[in-house]
Amino acid sequence: MERQVAVIGGGYAGLAAAVTLARHGMAVTVFEAARRLGGRARGVDHRGLVLDNGQHLLLGAYRQTLGLIDLVAPEDAACRGSPYLRLPLGLEVPGQFRLKIWPLPGPLGLALGLLAAGGLSLGDRVRALGFMAQMRRRKFSLAADMSVAALLAAQRQGERARRLLWQPLCLAALNTPPEAASAQVFLNVLRDTLNGRHDASDMILPRIDLGRLFPERAARYLERRGGCVRTSAAVRAVLSHPAGFEIAADAGSERFPQVVCAVAPQHLARVVAHLPELSGAVEMVRGFEYEPIYTVYLQYPEHVGLASPILGLTGGIGQWVFDRGRVNQTPGLLAVVISARGAHQALSREALAQRVHEELAAAVGGLPPPRWQMVIAEKRSTFSCRAGIRRPGQLTPLRGFYLAGDYTAGDYPATLEAAVQSGVKCAHHLLTQDRGDQP
Ligand SMILES: Cc1cc2nc3c(=O)[nH]c(=O)nc-3n(C[C@H](O)[C@H](O)[C@H](O)COP(=O)(O)OP(=O)(O)OC[C@H]3O[C@@H](n4cnc5c(N)ncnc54)[C@H](O)[C@@H]3O)c2cc1C
Repeated sequence: MERQVAVIGGGYAGLAAAVTLARHGMAVTVFEAARRLGGRARGVDHRGLVLDNGQHLLLGAYRQTLGLIDLVAPEDAACRGSPYLRLPLGLEVPGQFRLKIWPLPGPLGLALGLLAAGGLSLGDRVRALGFMAQMRRRKFSLAADMSVAALLAAQRQGERARRLLWQPLCLAALNTPPEAASAQVFLNVLRDTLNGRHDASDMILPRIDLGRLFPERAARYLERRGGCVRTSAAVRAVLSHPAGFEIAADAGSERFPQVVCAVAPQHLARVVAHLPELSGAVEMVRGFEYEPIYTVYLQYPEHVGLASPILGLTGGIGQWVFDRGRVNQTPGLLAVVISARGAHQALSREALAQRVHEELAAAVGGLPPPRWQMVIAEKRSTFSCRAGIRRPGQLTPLRGFYLAGDYTAGDYPATLEAAVQSGVKCAHHLLTQDRGDQP
């Protein structure tokens, strides 16, 4: 008989767990509070377009995410062809800095890229290479965590290298300013990308919206295997009973022998309020701080585009600009990303969009006024990935109850890959425990 599992939360973590379980023959029911699947990586309707709640970038090192996206891709004609634009890692700040990683195994690709980088002195480039070489010798592992800023200072990285290279990488990867960000987590990301296989640092831009990319396909995958995906189905409480768990949702209560709880960290306490065994995890999460990410969409006339699909911005509020015309077939649409806290949060949406438009016009050399603009402010985009942060594990003291989510223990900061890895880990723990329980 199929064993029943409830997954609470239909974001990338919950759906990764659900797909992995369904693949191994488990009957899965997903409860998602929102109308749409995807959580913090979902499609948003606007003026007849499906935008993303925030521009996302995947990396070649996101092996589990890319693997699961491939697994659930249906064979229908509409989905043929790659859902991504894949580019070698490049950082370009117009007129100031240019780095392109060569398509060679990690250390070599980076070394050649850094040596040829424009905008850094020879001393800065040599010190950046020396930093990576030293981290490689230490296996990208620190005896004790510290902030990224402290690590860069200890490694004598120059002001321009910090401002144009390491700081943008740290903000993009950890969504936490270098002064607070965990150097160990930053090194984990460098280890797996800049020091990884020749394509591990590739930048991967979804050509379709984030909801279609994985969550909607995952739902169809589950349904084809007898699973059930319920949207607008918030779980109000989970109660423990001798044969498993009672899931109380608006439509009534149901019992499941096993549960994967894959809600965002700020929602954990409410869902597990009746499970005292989870108090350790709740306590850990209570100590978290959160960082916002703002995405400013600016729709210009169709002929407007950038010289490259992504450009870095510096000296203002905007940090990265993505040309959605080149990536998502929406000509003239630019998306500007602003990670972490900052002065931009004090501006009204109109003032922020205007300011970002002016910065863009200055950076790329003149732009007509946008036809429309939209600011999406995700105030709790990610937990603040601070030095020394402790994250709860996927296994809990409560047998049959697992925690998934980008905030749970793992090498990566809050990213799609962290979310997917946590979901897959939960599924494997559950399958192992389940096999042990079967007569
Ligand atoms: C603007 C923005 C930009 C980002 N950029 C990047 C990027 O470029 N690259 C990258 O890798 N990552 C990026 N991230 C991070 C990435 O989106 C997240 O790490 C990932 O989506 C988290 O997935 P998750 O499944 O752990 O959590 P979530 O996506 O938060 O999923 C949790 C789900 O649980 C549901 N839920 C909550 N309570 C209940 C309940 N009681 N009952 C039922 N369901 C419930 C929620 O509705 C939600 O759908 C970005 C995030 C944001 C917001």
